[in-house]
Amino acid sequence: MNTTTAAHPSATLTHKQRSMLLTILAFIFFAVLPKIWTDDGDLDSLANAMSYATLALGLNIVVGFAGLLDLGYAAFFAIGAYYYGIFTSFQVMPVWSDAWAPLAYVGLVEKLNQGGPDLVHFTLSFWLALPTGGVIAAFFGMLFGFPVLRLRGDYLAIVTLGFGEIVQICARNMESLTNGAAGLNGVQGPKLFGYRFGVHSEPYYYVGLLLVAFLVFVSFRLRGSRIGRAWMAIREDETAASAMGISLVNYKLLAFAMGAAFAGMTGVFFVAKLQTATPEMFNSAVSSMLLVMVVLGGMGSVWGVVVGAVLLQLMQTWFLPQSSEWLHSIGKLTGIGFLQTVDMVQWTQLIFGVILVLMMLFRRQGLIPAVRKVAPLTMQQQTASVVRGGFVGLDKIGRWAPGKGDALVIKDVVVKFGGLVALNKVSLTVPDGGVVAVIGPNGSGKSTLFNVITGLVEADSGSISFNGVELLGLAPHKVLEAGVARTFQNIRLFPNLNVLENILIGEHARLKTGPFGAVIRPPSVVREENSAVQWAKDIAAMFSNRLTPRLDQTVSGLSYANRRRVEIARALASRPKILLLDEPTAGMNPAESLELAEQIKSLHDLGLTILLIEHKLDVVTRLADNVIVLDHGDKIAEGLPDDVRKDEEVLRAYLGRSGGH
Ligand code: ADP
Ligand code: MG
Repeated sequence: MNTTTAAHPSATLTHKQRSMLLTILAFIFFAVLPKIWTDDGDLDSLANAMSYATLALGLNIVVGFAGLLDLGYAAFFAIGAYYYGIFTSFQVMPVWSDAWAPLAYVGLVEKLNQGGPDLVHFTLSFWLALPTGGVIAAFFGMLFGFPVLRLRGDYLAIVTLGFGEIVQICARNMESLTNGAAGLNGVQGPKLFGYRFGVHSEPYYYVGLLLVAFLVFVSFRLRGSRIGRAWMAIREDETAASAMGISLVNYKLLAFAMGAAFAGMTGVFFVAKLQTATPEMFNSAVSSMLLVMVVLGGMGSVWGVVVGAVLLQLMQTWFLPQSSEWLHSIGKLTGIGFLQTVDMVQWTQLIFGVILVLMMLFRRQGLIPAVRKVAPLTMQQQTASVVRGGFVGLDKIGRWAPGKGDALVIKDVVVKFGGLVALNKVSLTVPDGGVVAVIGPNGSGKSTLFNVITGLVEADSGSISFNGVELLGLAPHKVLEAGVARTFQNIRLFPNLNVLENILIGEHARLKTGPFGAVIRPPSVVREENSAVQWAKDIAAMFSNRLTPRLDQTVSGLSYANRRRVEIARALASRPKILLLDEPTAGMNPAESLELAEQIKSLHDLGLTILLIEHKLDVVTRLADNVIVLDHGDKIAEGLPDDVRKDEEVLRAYLGRSGGH
């Protein structure tokens, strides 16, 4: 991850260099291993472990990065496997016609005669099947992903479990394609420059190693990019992610597709190595085993899942059979009958279950946690050097859109929750460059007003136009794209991401890097990413030294006031034209409230349009040009702060009978 900070540049650099060195050493070690350790069976076990590592890497994208619990992941493994198996075996052989000739010319099929009419024998190359298997599985990933997009957590898990079963049942029953339970036979192994891989494990071992290396690389590249950040934002808080400009549909589908592509490629590799495919290879036990691998290694941790997969696979294929033999020997020595016959392999599922339970109880973050601990701040860094008078370093930010006319025009908006009318024909206008405050007692509909503007709840009627664009009916991420950014009353950050990542996610809609750019990382992407990080740091620096020393700290560990600041920074990072602040000073002490009020005022001075929900009347008076008062969903008053404070009805509704505060 590229989380260099001003605070510890050297420490982060050495960490990066150290992990790079470790990676290179590990790959050199595994590259020379077959030359030292020549046992074919052991190399085969290792090659299998590598294919589970690549599967776990794919599942890690879906579950670890994007937080979508998928219990039927083996389905995509099967799709890749049968794709290669069917197109290289003698299972499906249509009658030959000259239309096949071009394919025969490029070597994808050959004409075969077994006595009857000429037949087509598919001879798909392994090297072509590997990427295309990934693409086909990705297509199915999207196909399966589409209907389950709206589901979360348990529901998603159940539906994906169903998909896993469906694919396996298809493999079992579509005998003409798959040869059913008996499995495909005559699957061709890979060839490289005329060299046939055959049945020796060593060449497969190397292909497996390269596949792991490639997918580790892809995983890291994605994770450290705009794409990975979007996935992690969805994992951490879907609502906040969409409000910050991330299209939930696109990024969930992309996660399913990417994860499936990894599995599809692995399926091709696995079947080429085994030279057969049977339905049992893809049953739900495989899916759950993969999940255990991801959990054991550490959800979202690239190296973690590789280690988890290799450990569990070696345990299954090497340690358990071996330990059975040890136990048999001990049994013979001691004369205990039970030990002489025990077969540890039969206990595999139980052992997996126990591992899962133990991990959940004692080490939820896995063996190699995805979130790295950072050093605590020094006393000096913790001491706030607060500059009075608003934000600092605003010259770097530049002026916001110049004001012209009315920015936000809300007309007769009605929102009902069942029988409850949360907003009853509310109308208001926020002029360009203005600050409008919304006040009212708890439950009067203020937050609902923000939710309806930002697309999080639907309006029953009315219209909301922003710079001439109708916002009602737009998805939350489209509203952000239009220039409307918000904070939440109950702070919705991405808790397991650090401050810098949180702010960068705010920039999502203003960046362009796609999945391929993220992996290949051409100069344009590097430039975009660097300037995105710079912008995030400039925004953080506006809060004096409140956030800057904490850029690589996870936000869940921040103080309440600092989390509020991160949320405002995240919203500002999206370069909004209007900023909606929902009770920004709630939970802050008077000094902090005052500091924030001055900062908001300095944003106003820069020309940013602001709609503010605020309880503290002194803050409102200091900031707002215009005040709207809501009560039980009705707008009961509107006017200058001082006038509204004197309004009879407002006093009754908002301040209670005492008429003071
Ligand atoms: P405020 O922010 O002014 O305190 P809210 O806008 O949060 O008030 O809530 C207004 C009313 O709408 C409350 O009675 C609240 O219980 C209700 N409400 C808000 N959101 C929902 C929802 N998603 N579903 C049902 N009722 C809701
Ligand atoms: Mg509220």
